[in-house]
Amino acid sequence: MKYDYLIVGAGLFGSVFAHQAVKKGKKCLVIDKRPHIGGNVYTEEVEGITVHRYGAHIFHTSNKRVWDYVTSLAEFNNYINSPVAVYGGEAYNLPFNMNTFSKMWGVTTPAQARAIIDKQVKEAGVSSPQNLEEQALSMVGADIYHKLIKEYTEKQWGRDCRDLPAFIIKRLPLRFTYDNNYFTDKYQGIPVGGYTQLIEKLLEGCTVKLNCDFCENKAQLAWQASQIIYTGAADRLFGYVLGKLEYRTLRFETEVLPTDNYQGNAVVNYTSHAQPYTRIIEHKHFEFGAQPKTVISREYPSEWKDGSEPFYPVNDQKNNALAAEYARMAVEKGYILGGRLADYKYYDMDKVIANALALADKIL
Ligand code: UDP
Repeated sequence: MKYDYLIVGAGLFGSVFAHQAVKKGKKCLVIDKRPHIGGNVYTEEVEGITVHRYGAHIFHTSNKRVWDYVTSLAEFNNYINSPVAVYGGEAYNLPFNMNTFSKMWGVTTPAQARAIIDKQVKEAGVSSPQNLEEQALSMVGADIYHKLIKEYTEKQWGRDCRDLPAFIIKRLPLRFTYDNNYFTDKYQGIPVGGYTQLIEKLLEGCTVKLNCDFCENKAQLAWQASQIIYTGAADRLFGYVLGKLEYRTLRFETEVLPTDNYQGNAVVNYTSHAQPYTRIIEHKHFEFGAQPKTVISREYPSEWKDGSEPFYPVNDQKNNALAAEYARMAVEKGYILGGRLADYKYYDMDKVIANALALADKIL
């Protein structure tokens, strides 16, 4: 066999594993069906601005090993994610914090904000939340739920909030300080110049083949390596024999505008049904850009159909059970699965890297 590893998918998981393998003297063939490396962290330059082609990727972690790893490959800037939510012409800071509460109710102290939230939570009368709506009402009360959560979430997931699992909303922190930093992790930033060059570094020493679809060329590809690491969709790997996993996909409308500053922030969420998109990313602000023009991307979520890019797993019971079945099949057939897509999990980037490092530690 020509290679020790055939790595299907040149995204974060595959690239990190490949990097570790090459360091151990292994020969790796990395293939991707897209015409570029990086998976969904892929960035490209437009008008001198780094554009996140598949949506905002803000790196954050509390895992020292992961942080040391990525910063050894690329320089990270000090970008802190502080999104703004626009509802009916008003702008609110996220995550929900004293700036948000002050704008919403005219309060100034944590005690005043708490009193209002406690009252609204009590009025909601939810004791054990069974769905996302109940979870939100029992955490933040009706005002915040209606202005900042309900319609955004329905646009994002294409489902009524009462039909969505509660855990999705646990990603939204609530705090009683004037702190707009969305994440609570110890380390945060964006690789200067984008993610693509970081992935290029990871793939040094590997053979990379783009526009190469494993599922369509299994017979020719499989014999080339003694072990296959597969990071694509597991249902597709097996021709959907047990049925299809559901995903949410995103469509981006990207525009170059002749202004130096369109919205004053990298991420602005539109939390009302009045706009069909969920957010607008103004890419230059990720790197504090001073270019004369700007590039914005409006983000439209929709249900995944064959041929579109899967972005978010829909982790309800039915899909999770099906994903577990496919994972068992993969093990039986000798594949190693990894990454957000193959694992069918709503991972952040640092988790994907940690998992790839752990796999490398285990098998190399
Ligand atoms: N969310 C919300 N209002 C917002 C932003 C997020 O209700 O302004 C909810 C929504 O349900 C979303 C979840 O929080 O699916 C997680 O959002 P986040 O932006 O953290 O996730 P990402 O899409 O960046 O992975």
